[in-house]
Amino acid sequence: MKITDVKVHALQVPLAKPLYISLGAITDAISALVVIETDEGITGYGEGSPGVLITGENLPGTIASIRMFRDKLIGMDPLDLESISIMMNRETALAGAAKCAIDTACHDILGKKCGLPLYKLLGGHSNKIVTDMTVGIEDPQITAEKARKYVEQGFTTIKTKVGADAAMDLARVRAIREAVGDSVKIRLDANQGWHAREAIELIRRLNEYDIELVEQPVRRYDFEGLCYVTANSPVPIMADESCWDSKDALRLISSRAVDFINIKLMKCGGIREAQKICAIAESAGVEVMLGCMAEECGIGITAAASLGAALSVITRADLDNTWSLKELPYEGGFHIETTNTLVLSDNPGLGIVSLKEEMFN
Ligand code: MG
Repeated sequence: MKITDVKVHALQVPLAKPLYISLGAITDAISALVVIETDEGITGYGEGSPGVLITGENLPGTIASIRMFRDKLIGMDPLDLESISIMMNRETALAGAAKCAIDTACHDILGKKCGLPLYKLLGGHSNKIVTDMTVGIEDPQITAEKARKYVEQGFTTIKTKVGADAAMDLARVRAIREAVGDSVKIRLDANQGWHAREAIELIRRLNEYDIELVEQPVRRYDFEGLCYVTANSPVPIMADESCWDSKDALRLISSRAVDFINIKLMKCGGIREAQKICAIAESAGVEVMLGCMAEECGIGITAAASLGAALSVITRADLDNTWSLKELPYEGGFHIETTNTLVLSDNPGLGIVSLKEEMFN
């Protein structure tokens, strides 16, 4: 099989409601959607969503990287995933969103060629995955009311953003706990908002409201601070911004710098690199969560959910951003069961049928 064309579409649509995190406000879904065409008539879909607050990547840069890859990809076999990965890593450092878009589209083609849904091809442990629901940094009573509504709808884990203001964090988490009751899990994401010493003090106080875990308490580059927090925290610590790829995962895990890893396909560059992180984590007995960028539009989430369902080491999912869009820019993919469960299509590959081109810029 040979790649005959790589098309890229830009998508920027307002989220139904902005998400406020310690790094700033996220107001729009922003993605480059890729269509890879082949000489066998099989088409692959992929998404590259640059989360500028997290990765520093933006949409024009992501599209430029995809166009740069396009020149090398035409004529290559889309099933040669290793060769394509080597080519992209030689062309540019980082650019996780652009690499993810290509990697996802090639995996979609592989599934279609094999006649298998991606979750089967990647491991087949399950065809579904349960996600949490995130509430951002807002007034405590507003977030508590949102959390209560989500729990009424059927979500069993609420993730809330923290890290901007300690007193407000405490008030928000307390209000959420009072609103949702004792049986709901509450996980926190500080998005690098704390220094190591204050993190320990704050986590101890926040844990009065029974916290499941804390994501990324300190700056992404503060490796020693992360080690300190993990060693002294009463609740498990998860690395997100500190863990880009398998090399980061190896260092974090072998140093016992974290208890859990949050993989995002947009950080690591796609399913192939995510599988390497999962192998390292599973070998060390470290559980993995699959997350998403708040700017994603759903194709990337379908890819992440496929991997998350396929592998038993992935025990948690934060794939809630599909609920933020008024309309999805494609047909097909997963469907929602009992509010918080993403059930993957049994159609080959990602199960994406088509893109709604009228939604693209
Ligand atoms: Mg996070």
